[in-house]
Amino acid sequence: MNFTYKTYKNILIKLKKDYKFVSFSKIKFSNETFKKSILLRHDIDQSLEKTIPISEIESELGIIATYFLFLRSPFYNIFSPASESIVRKILKSGHLIGLHFDFTKYSNISVSETSYQIMKEIDFIQTFFNIKIDAVSFHRPISLKFFRNLELSTYPHTYEPIFVDNFKYFSDSRGIWRFGNPFESEEYRKKENIHLLIHPIWWNEKSIKPIISIKKFRERYLKHFNENINSELKSFWENLKNEKE
Ligand SMILES: [Zn+2]
Repeated sequence: MNFTYKTYKNILIKLKKDYKFVSFSKIKFSNETFKKSILLRHDIDQSLEKTIPISEIESELGIIATYFLFLRSPFYNIFSPASESIVRKILKSGHLIGLHFDFTKYSNISVSETSYQIMKEIDFIQTFFNIKIDAVSFHRPISLKFFRNLELSTYPHTYEPIFVDNFKYFSDSRGIWRFGNPFESEEYRKKENIHLLIHPIWWNEKSIKPIISIKKFRERYLKHFNENINSELKSFWENLKNEKE
C-alpha cells in the first residue's frame, strides 16, 4: 500500500460508491439507524500544514471529515495567524473540527478532572473559531474502561460504545494499516460501518517511507522556525549589524 495523495483519492472514490460519510455528532444525537456509514477522522499529531492537501482532496469529492486538533501541542499552535488560516480553510471547505486531547499534558487523570480539562480545551477552540466542535478524540488512549465512564455532555468522544461497537476501526498509524487494509476486510466486503482514522503526516505526493515523512516534517518545521527567528527578532538582527559596522 503506498500512501500517496493519488491513492487517498482513489480510496475515497471507492468508499463513496457504497458508503455515506457521517459526523460523530450526527451518529450520536440523531435517532436514525446508520448503515453503510463512514466516520472519516484525522488526528493531527504533528503537522497542521499537511491537512491542506488531504482536505482539498476530500472537498473536491464532496466528502466531509473531522479534523481533531491539539490545543497544547509542542509542534503547532492553532491560535497563531498561520495556523488559524489553515483551520479556517478546513472549516470553509465544510469539514468539522474536533479536539484531540492528550492526557500526558495533565498530571491528574481521574474521570472528573479529565472531563473538566477537556471541556476547558473545547471552550478555547469554540470561542476562538466561533464553532461547535464535532467530537473529542484521544492521543495515546488509556484503558477502554476509563472511556466507558467518560461522558462529555453534548460532545461525543470517539471511544463511546456507540462508535466502538457499531463501527469497524481502521487506522494508518505509524504509516501502515495497523488493523489491516480496510479493503481486504470482511467488514468492507459486507459494507458494514467503518471508522477510518487517517493521519495526514503519512500521506505524500510520492510513496515514501514513514521515516522520510518525519524527516520532511522536521525540515519544514526548522525552516519555519528559522523564518520566525528572522522576522520576529528583526530589530535585534538589525541592531547587531549596526553595532558591527
Ligand atoms: Zn494522536
